[in-house]
Amino acid sequence: MPLEKFFNPDSVAIVGASRQKGKVGYEILKSMIDAGYPGKIFPVNPNADEIEGLKCFANLKSLGQRPDLVVIVVPAKAVPDVMQQCASLGVKAAVIITAGFKEVGEEGKKLEQQVAQIAKRAGVRVIGPNCLGVIVPANKLNASFGGDLPAVGATGYLSQSGALLAAILDMANANGIGFSKLISIGNKADIDEIDIIEALAADPDTKVIAGYLESITDGAAFVRQAEQISQKKPILLMKSGGTAAGARAASSHTGSLAGSETAYECVFERAGIIRCFSIKKQFDFAQTFATQPLPRGQKVAVITNAGGAGIMAADAVERYGLTFAELSEKTIHKLRSRLPAAANVLNPIDVLGDALADRYEFALDVAIDGPNVDAVIVLLTPQAMTEPVATAEAIVRIAKQKPQKPVLASFLGVSKVQKAVEILRKGGIPQYDSPESAVLTIKVMVDYVRWCARPKRIVRLFPVNRRKAETIVERCLRQGVREIGEAESKEILEAYGFVTPKGSIATTAEQAANIAEQIGYPVVLKIWSPDILHKSDVSGVRVGIETPQEVMDAFDLMMYRIPQKLPNAKILGVLVQEMCSTGKEVILGMNRDPHFGPLMMFGMGGTMVEVLKDVSFYLAPLTADEARQMLVNTRTYKMLKGVRGEKGVDIDAIAEGLQRLSQLVTEFPQIKEMDINPYMVGPEGTTPIAVDARISVEKV
Ligand code: ADP
Ligand code: MG
Repeated sequence: MPLEKFFNPDSVAIVGASRQKGKVGYEILKSMIDAGYPGKIFPVNPNADEIEGLKCFANLKSLGQRPDLVVIVVPAKAVPDVMQQCASLGVKAAVIITAGFKEVGEEGKKLEQQVAQIAKRAGVRVIGPNCLGVIVPANKLNASFGGDLPAVGATGYLSQSGALLAAILDMANANGIGFSKLISIGNKADIDEIDIIEALAADPDTKVIAGYLESITDGAAFVRQAEQISQKKPILLMKSGGTAAGARAASSHTGSLAGSETAYECVFERAGIIRCFSIKKQFDFAQTFATQPLPRGQKVAVITNAGGAGIMAADAVERYGLTFAELSEKTIHKLRSRLPAAANVLNPIDVLGDALADRYEFALDVAIDGPNVDAVIVLLTPQAMTEPVATAEAIVRIAKQKPQKPVLASFLGVSKVQKAVEILRKGGIPQYDSPESAVLTIKVMVDYVRWCARPKRIVRLFPVNRRKAETIVERCLRQGVREIGEAESKEILEAYGFVTPKGSIATTAEQAANIAEQIGYPVVLKIWSPDILHKSDVSGVRVGIETPQEVMDAFDLMMYRIPQKLPNAKILGVLVQEMCSTGKEVILGMNRDPHFGPLMMFGMGGTMVEVLKDVSFYLAPLTADEARQMLVNTRTYKMLKGVRGEKGVDIDAIAEGLQRLSQLVTEFPQIKEMDINPYMVGPEGTTPIAVDARISVEKV
């Protein structure tokens, strides 16, 4: 397993071990001892002979052997020297707990780089600096100052925040939640989130990977690796802080609609990562992933001794889009044979308020076997006759006998169910403080199963004229142009297979009339300026012009009024354009995230995009399925399919447009932002038209 020396060392040296209670150097040593670590512990401190009964060493060299793991707690200034000693000894793994590096500014950053360089040259892998340490409950390794050694479990946890990890530990310990490994990654001078996630993926003791992240070091690599790993083990992440893309001043619809969270949402969706918005939710999900099999479908059966709780569960099942299992004749018949006449043998199975443990046991045994049941939730409220403890034992028993379907419990109450909850936890049955949380967990599992079963991603490559687009983009960049002009945009789009309306730019009214004559009426007139983002905002678009006189009047009016309104805008003329027969207007767009690359956008188009905000995003490059899913994810989709007898539009043609755009922006990192709005689409079999586009470029 990668990083083995961090997780299963035969010996651990603590450089900077201290005699003084309350100091980190003392607390780590104490944590190591208290955890019952079976290997050798070497405290290193030149001023002490012994600490807590362990012989002290003046430096690493005087150990006379090479420790598997070195934990460094000395002040920041002294860390390079200690790392040098690690390097000379051939140490392979070091955890730097010490703070005062990158997080404190330039000087700290330099120091961190220096340490990282020494380590890299000598092949020492490093966790930290500025971290809480590493904990492996099964190996009784607590090389941290985070708290007591937690229970053994199947969740591997990584945290970028040491302080948060301390809170997580405390909460886990109070609830008896176990871990396979806990790693505080700190400043990530060497080992980063991907290394840890990979190590946990390869770890046979880890079934679920969970973590808290603030930043992602290498966006592209993260997406690639996480997507592969998610296929094998679920990844549950809390993520705080968005990316810069949303904060950047936007020069397109897509840019202004992409929030700082959009990139992470896209990345998580693409990589199958389950995003959690609180520690509690994360634990809720993790405990079931860690202990239960994945559901084969989305049909949920509920067993309860209280009607109200059953209804709460049923409501949640509906809210989260799961199915309330319809029990088979055989299941109903079996239930009826032994449950009292007053019991409800349909789902939710109500075993009644006077149910003892045996009734629960019987009902669960039968429900699990039900052919229409994919998961079972057992609800209990502690009423006068209820036997919480015996019921918990019965649930554990049945779930062990029939491990093929997930069983979740929600024992409601506090003191009366406390012991029972402990039994459930020890027996590997996830327990929830509300039926709703149990249902949500099943929903998250169902989504994950679906994600894992998604079709293989195949990105279609269209035959395009890449060279032509490249020539234009390069020329614009050479000329210092940021917003590509009308004619060039059109050429780029056409090179990638888009159809654009006929048209060109006129600088005089007569010229405008001539162009209109060539195109054929009706025509559209549009003001053309690199400084005007949305032409209709300044009355710069006139549609449905029928005669040469109208063309000339409209031209004069625009050229007169708009410079008055916008004296600083550089106006290049008026675009005379073919009028497209009516269709539906949609928007296809892209906003490039600095870490994760192009984010594709689809939505309701036209001039109201920002108002309606009915858009969806996805990470490029897009597959046909993903492009289609982007459409389905908007409300506009229903309208596009046709409502109230109205004929729908060509959905596949829109999806193809998205894929072509995705190919364009993937092949041209110089394109920072762009959108086609409106992309005018008609009924099946017609060709959509890219009526208006913005492309902004930047040197890379
Ligand atoms: P902007 O987005 O800068 O305001 P557009 O070129 O997108 O300018 O035009 C605004 C609106 O005018 C479009 O959403 C569409 O409804 C209409 N429109 C523009 N050009 C055409 C055209 N060639 N054919 C039909 N309608 C058009
Ligand atoms: Mg537009």
